[in-house]
Amino acid sequence: MLEASHYYFNKAAEILGISEKIKSILITPLRVVKVEIVTEDDAGCLMSHIGFRVQHNRMRGPMKGGLRYHPTMDESHATALANLMTWKTALVDIPYGGAKGGVNCNPRDLSTSELDRITRTFVEQIKEVIGPSLDIPAPDVNTNSTVMGWIMDEYSKYYGFSPGVVTGKPLHLFGSPGREEATGRGVMYVLEEALRDQGKSLENVTVALQGFGNVGSNAARLVAEKGATIVAVADHMGGVSNPTGLDIPSLISWTTEHRTVKGFAGGEPFDSPDVLTWDADVLIPAALEDVITRDNAGDVRAGLIIEAANAPVTPEADEILNKKGIVVVPDILANAGGVTVSYFEWAQNIQQFRWELDRVNMELSKIMRRAYDGVRKLAASRSLDLRTAAFLLAIQRVGQAAMARRHIRENVPTLD
Ligand code: NAD
Repeated sequence: MLEASHYYFNKAAEILGISEKIKSILITPLRVVKVEIVTEDDAGCLMSHIGFRVQHNRMRGPMKGGLRYHPTMDESHATALANLMTWKTALVDIPYGGAKGGVNCNPRDLSTSELDRITRTFVEQIKEVIGPSLDIPAPDVNTNSTVMGWIMDEYSKYYGFSPGVVTGKPLHLFGSPGREEATGRGVMYVLEEALRDQGKSLENVTVALQGFGNVGSNAARLVAEKGATIVAVADHMGGVSNPTGLDIPSLISWTTEHRTVKGFAGGEPFDSPDVLTWDADVLIPAALEDVITRDNAGDVRAGLIIEAANAPVTPEADEILNKKGIVVVPDILANAGGVTVSYFEWAQNIQQFRWELDRVNMELSKIMRRAYDGVRKLAASRSLDLRTAAFLLAIQRVGQAAMARRHIRENVPTLD
């Protein structure tokens, strides 16, 4: 995954014409933190987990990025995802750098009180390097508003009441209305824009979706509400399909109870990986990275892929998809809705005011559509795919900020 994020960076940096030295400065993380989290399980036995926080770049503001609790979490994953955060925040032009982290664990094997202890011990160990003007974590895979609330509470024990240290918090702990669904809502806005480019709209497309967690379920609900037909959904346990459209509110209720879409009576079961090559107009990967590879890219049937997950398409697959004429809206654009509403939440926290939901959604729509438009125009004017155009815009913005701060002293070409 790290190789993939470097590949996309290098491809765009080459076109931008920046030197090897500047490339190396821009790609290297500022700080990599690795800690051992020793806690007790519910039976009183010691447990040990490894936690990571990679802080990639702070040229445009405090670093920002999610915390993932997953058995695959390691330094390489955190570094790749931290890189993506730097380019994502720059692309949507919000005042942040990039970071990412998490804990190598399987939350399915842990009780709520065990997760609480792991989270608080992790915060205790990284508290000196996070903070409202340093690095602001947020939810990612297997973390949610509850976990963010624990982080705020633990950090506040050391530094006083600090809601701005973390975003994606519960509403009654100064979270923002709309944050929970923001990534899915952002996916819906860029999908609308990408369809408009193809002369289509949500009312006349079919959608296949991988992943039905925070991002996938909200994206499905919102695009279905706008008239799209969701014909297939898969998660880590299995898939369900219905050619006339799955009833998404019922599927959400089923999943809340059973923690999987598998077994839902409103559709036919299928093997989870088949969703990626489903016969649908649009494919939304919203689970994990590296799912569309050179082995299955040739079989993808959708004409449009919206990368709701981070890094779902490997570079080899990306080339195959481009050659097939399949349009890919890249992760750093497609899933930027979450960090954008996180920015609104943080801004509200440090100024101690609160926006209404309508305002949040209106501002999110503006930022997502403006970012899409910038990428679309650059891609068209330079005959580039959307991913390369997105990286070009992001890299030059970070480069320009670094130049203005005299952290780099070579010219970075301007595109804006
Ligand atoms: P989540 O934990 O809420 O949901 C993950 C979903 O993926 C679950 O439905 C799970 O069953 C499914 N899944 C896991 N392994 C799978 C497999 N092998 N095959 C099929 N499905 C599988 O996580 P999330 O917050 O929805 O994040 C999903 C993706 O979106 C991640 O790549 C994450 O980095 C990215 N993302 C999340 C946010 C956010 O605000 N939560 C923001 C930006 C990007």
